Amino acid sequence: MTRTDCLEALARLYEFLDGELDAADAAAVRHHMEVCAGCYPFLQFCGSFQDALHRAAKGQPAAPPELRQRIASLLRNEGLKPHNH
Ligand SMILES: [Zn+2]
Repeated sequence: MTRTDCLEALARLYEFLDGELDAADAAAVRHHMEVCAGCYPFLQFCGSFQDALHRAAKGQPAAPPELRQRIASLLRNEGLKPHNH
């Protein structure tokens, strides 16, 4: 695992949440999020956000601009801390 893997996983998280990835790619992103200590919080955050969205308003995009901005803000503020696997 490298830092690039994390950046790619987070970048694809948008597509993952939008349901734009095929099953294999979605599984790869989810797997990285689940095993990577640096990315797992994003999966948790996005998962809960997505659940709330689904409950509140079915039919809306899974990853609205607000979520994208929130993630971008998190990335700016927190950065991706190097971590070992
Ligand atoms: Zn990662």
